[in-house]
Amino acid sequence: MLELDEWLCQHLNKTKEAGLYRKVRTMNTAPRSTMLIDGRRQIVFSSNNYLGLANNQRLVTAAEAILHEYGVGSSGSRLTTGHTDWHHKIEEKIASFKQTEAALLFSSGYLANVGVLSTLPKEGDVILSDQLNHASIIDGCRLSKAKTVVYNHIDMDDLEKKLNETASYKRRFIVTDGVFSMDGTIAPLDQMISLAKRYHAYTIVDDAHATGVLGKNGRGTSEYFGVRPDVVIGTFSKAIGTEGGFVAGSHVLIDFLLNNARTFIFQTAMPPAICAASYAALEVIEESYDKRQQLVSNVEKIKTSLIEMGYLVKGDLTPIIPVIIGDPNEAVGFSEKLQEKGIYAPAIRPPTVPEGESRIRLTVTSDHTAKEIDYLLECFQFIGKELSIK
Ligand code: PMP
Repeated sequence: MLELDEWLCQHLNKTKEAGLYRKVRTMNTAPRSTMLIDGRRQIVFSSNNYLGLANNQRLVTAAEAILHEYGVGSSGSRLTTGHTDWHHKIEEKIASFKQTEAALLFSSGYLANVGVLSTLPKEGDVILSDQLNHASIIDGCRLSKAKTVVYNHIDMDDLEKKLNETASYKRRFIVTDGVFSMDGTIAPLDQMISLAKRYHAYTIVDDAHATGVLGKNGRGTSEYFGVRPDVVIGTFSKAIGTEGGFVAGSHVLIDFLLNNARTFIFQTAMPPAICAASYAALEVIEESYDKRQQLVSNVEKIKTSLIEMGYLVKGDLTPIIPVIIGDPNEAVGFSEKLQEKGIYAPAIRPPTVPEGESRIRLTVTSDHTAKEIDYLLECFQFIGKELSIK
């Protein structure tokens, strides 16, 4: 038998040979549109800080005040000693923001997805899951005793076909990302919810990338389409600018999850200071029509310019802009050229995206300045010509 490290090295070497080896980069500054990465100044087009709140002074001040009063950790699960008035306050705030009866905090969006999907659908049920759903939804489905059936990405005809094929299951749950993290597409929730009503299915939406971004008041895909899914999941780690996840829905749903979701019951409660910062973030978002407008105008400018240059750009009008390069090595080469020019935008390759669809995944924030955007576009023009891509 090999020593453990030897055996693991063999695996890592295979990962390296396949060009899929991953490593971390060190950010030497607070999250901003321009940051020091591994000691080099880079304009960042790959963060989820869509409204620039991760470094917003109002959030920092809110966290600071509570940090001094409550300390740094909660020191217990919510059902033992970890539940504070700040957990209560932020849950009430999420519910009012998402316009649901109640909400429940989890330590991350990942754990919220896993918690919901491993708890609600039971043996004898079926989960209908979009092909491009986030890894945490997939992992939740794997933990569930229900069967999972995958439908083609945002293909409502295929979803209907699969609803017809699964009529014999006890209950049916449709689960989808609101905005898809690699393609920037928006799930057609209006059509999905009318299908769900027609076929007596429940709807679960992971609004990680839509919360704070879509809808007139930033409430997410529900507001964007004017619909009410049964379960809304979200994260604080993107537009809200902090950390943590949540589920929003009816009082009964929340009570059920509080009593049954293992990723809620057995996790330590979030630090109260982060609850306070998230509370402040939701207040800022409620007042931030201008930040959302700026974000939309930044996205429009980049998308239209790249399309005019001849690039293949996927997705709807969201802060996630996938620029398709095709070949994985060319995508990596492109990303490296961008980095040489001081722009940080990683290449995304299979298996994260389909073969032939390797891409530069740009994410845009309201904090990107016109100068930063113009420079990004100049670099795309230059590198595209240099590498004969477009
Ligand atoms: N859902 C989606 C669609 C995501 O993109 C992410 C984060 N990458 C998550 C859930 C997980 O959220 P968190 O970072 O809070 O764990």
